[in-house]
Amino acid sequence: MEKNLALLIDLQKADDEITRMEAVINAFPALMSQQDAALGKDRAAYEEYKKNLEAVNKARLGKEREVEEKKAAIVKSRMKLNEVKTNQEYHAAQQEIKNMEEAIGRLEDEQLEIMERLDGAKAEEKGFKEKVAAEEKEFAAFKAVKEKELAEVKAKAEAAHTRRKGIAAGVDPAVLSQYDRVFKVRERKAVAELKNGFCSACHQMVLPQLAVEVRTGARLHTCPHCNRFLYALPDPK
Ligand SMILES: [Zn+2]
Repeated sequence: MEKNLALLIDLQKADDEITRMEAVINAFPALMSQQDAALGKDRAAYEEYKKNLEAVNKARLGKEREVEEKKAAIVKSRMKLNEVKTNQEYHAAQQEIKNMEEAIGRLEDEQLEIMERLDGAKAEEKGFKEKVAAEEKEFAAFKAVKEKELAEVKAKAEAAHTRRKGIAAGVDPAVLSQYDRVFKVRERKAVAELKNGFCSACHQMVLPQLAVEVRTGARLHTCPHCNRFLYALPDPK
């Protein structure tokens, strides 16, 4: 086989491996964020839950404040009782105090209800935390496995680059630059096998005379349709 052709076939193989490895490397960040999102459902639910809890707690504090205000108002009203001049005024003031005391009772009942809910929340929160921790553990395990795989792929890509360099060094410069040109414009494929008279890359037929010459492998030939270098494997006996 022509010296350059054998090298070009190897060069394409090294480039194929680089292409495969780079696809894996480039897909890595998306793979991580996909997995993170898939495993982060409980984390999102927990965040939402905490927000709700905060609102409930705020409502409780509001009611606490209201009770304090009403208690202060009652003290004031009691002091006024000493200053009233008529029975009517006295009864009115007493009624006012009674109303406020009832309101305090209602507020305290509501507070109690909220406190009970917050007590229940502690158990719920524990459940959430456990789920989130399990998710994080699972993600960390996934990440560790994938990062190890990624390191292996990077090492393989590195080795393929080194191998490629060695192969390219043996190719005639003019042939190499032709390879690089076709590689760039033809989906990273600059070498194609000729099978039954067809270029296996662009699937077009070549003239029988060219097919014969490609089979001998004595000289470099390119596909007249896609410009890729053509080679033929010996017929299986
Ligand atoms: Zn072709």
